[in-house]
Amino acid sequence: MGEEASRVVMITGGSRGIGRATAYAFAEEGARLVLAHYDPDETAAEETLAVLKSRGIAAESHRVDVSSYPVVTALLNDILDRFGRIDVLVNNAGITRDKILVRMSEEEWDAVIQVNLKSVFNCTQAVLKPMLKQRSGCIVSLSSVVAERGNFGQGNYAASKAGVLGFTRSVAREVASRAIRVNAVAPGFIETDMTAVLPEKVKESFIEQIPLGRMGHPEDVANAVYWLCSDKAAYLTGQVIHVNGGMYM
Ligand code: NAP
Repeated sequence: MGEEASRVVMITGGSRGIGRATAYAFAEEGARLVLAHYDPDETAAEETLAVLKSRGIAAESHRVDVSSYPVVTALLNDILDRFGRIDVLVNNAGITRDKILVRMSEEEWDAVIQVNLKSVFNCTQAVLKPMLKQRSGCIVSLSSVVAERGNFGQGNYAASKAGVLGFTRSVAREVASRAIRVNAVAPGFIETDMTAVLPEKVKESFIEQIPLGRMGHPEDVANAVYWLCSDKAAYLTGQVIHVNGGMYM
């Protein structure tokens, strides 16, 4: 067992894609994993747990809406009652509701801000209380390349992901004196269910913009998240790591 053996790690959106790959990365070190997912069809969450179990990892996945403040508070209270600590939070849950702005409904705007940004407030505030007492902890939130460069049809999503960056830098300043590090990872164009729905033509035009010439794998992002939460990144806080094959530099 490595340095992560006793760490309690919470990953929102851990059932699929980048969150699942991140869970597998922490599993290698024997971390105790608390995942959150939301789809009533829990097949993906069950598959993730089955893989983790086969690797001998203690893991659980909770069907919760992380955009709900009381729901997140109750989950964190339960985790603290049972584990007594929380060492890592990965704010990964995210959705898209793409539409050009003149056609975007208020519901599409609100849904994306709630899941992608409000959840980051909910979960971060909930873990900070115990982390401040512990005087240790690591928080990584998933932003996006579109936070920096914008994207046609993604005004809501880009706003949420740019919000994550401002939030990360502000909170990093607030808690650094207690040895809590707060960083962000901004993926480019990654092969997951989120991008699988895009038309082939759109995918091809994105790939043309990537100097490394391919979409990223979930593991490419998970490796950066994991590294940020390791002692190898002990002197990094308030930073954003871009994992995008050179799409934005
Ligand atoms: P994904 O495959 O669509 O998975 C999204 C995850 O979020 C799922 O586990 C989903 O759970 C969970 N989730 C959604 N709404 C939730 C809610 N209200 N409460 C709890 N969990 C919820 O997405 P991904 O591509 O892995 O993306 C992961 C993160 O990276 C997101 O924040 C995304 O914005 C960001 N990102 C992705 C890309 C990319 O190209 N893929 C690029 C830049 C940034 P269920 O399965 O139960 O619905």
